[in-house]
Amino acid sequence: ATPTSVMVGTGRAAGMGILFRKGAALQALSGVATVAFDKTGTLTEGRPSVTEVALAAGTDRDEALRLAAALEARSEHPIARAILAVAPGELPAAEAVEALPGFGLRGRVEGAAVLVGAARLMEREGIAPGDLAAAADRFAAAGATPVLVARDGRVLAVLALADPVKATARAAIDALHRMGVKTALITGDTEATARAVAAELGIERVSAGVLPDGKVAALEALRKDGPLAFVGDGLNDAPALAAADIGIAIGTGTDVAIEAADVVLMAGDPRAVADALHVSRRTMRNIR
Ligand code: ADP
Ligand code: MG
Repeated sequence: ATPTSVMVGTGRAAGMGILFRKGAALQALSGVATVAFDKTGTLTEGRPSVTEVALAAGTDRDEALRLAAALEARSEHPIARAILAVAPGELPAAEAVEALPGFGLRGRVEGAAVLVGAARLMEREGIAPGDLAAAADRFAAAGATPVLVARDGRVLAVLALADPVKATARAAIDALHRMGVKTALITGDTEATARAVAAELGIERVSAGVLPDGKVAALEALRKDGPLAFVGDGLNDAPALAAADIGIAIGTGTDVAIEAADVVLMAGDPRAVADALHVSRRTMRNIR
């Protein structure tokens, strides 16, 4: 492409809310073989809500929710807001609350050791989910994130945190497939949750259970097929945005994500990824 056509392409894209931070990015995007997406906040709304609660025998629902919320009151995670919204009444005081990135939270409430988080947090602490394993599996199979609540080594409850996919996410994936590009999903969520969301959207490849610092390694595995773009919105996504051949920050992404990206999509609509690819190919004369 000539410098002029790159300028024209960059300008066209800008008019669509797609900012190429360097001309080289416009050219590189045209050759992308795979687009990998972060799940939460990129393909989903990123605002989960508690849709179901399963309880161990003899557990009081409100008490379990207050226990979880007592810890979540110290967390910035979107899951925290959702749990605080459903916990009734006054929350007990929590002490020594610790965030375990990719796992959940640990703390003490009224002298008891409390854990709130993913099944792998319980696994790590040597706590078996007991009767609640089936509920956790059922929530995940429906595409929700199961959040377990344990006190003194016993799982009391499992919450289903549902985060609906964006209305345009399916169309965004379909558009990429029509352009001959492969798609992938990368998430810290469990395999079953990720597979359910991927199936709903028609995404081919899934990399689940990825810890915050594991996204870069997950991308490397996808690079075998050729140049790779990664689309993400969060603080956690900055290393992956920098490591991908093309990093695409979406929506009201955090400053850190925007800083690390080659392309910034101003709106939260994932269809803009296909639009960006289209402009890029057109500029490179792959499309007339
Ligand atoms: P992602 O950003 O890919 O959704 P995270 O790395 O933030 O994933 O978290 C991975 C998993 O860890 C979540 O799906 C959840 O199960 C658990 N988790 C993390 N933070 C919290 C929290 N504050 N409360 C409950 N669970 C949490
Ligand atoms: Mg995200």
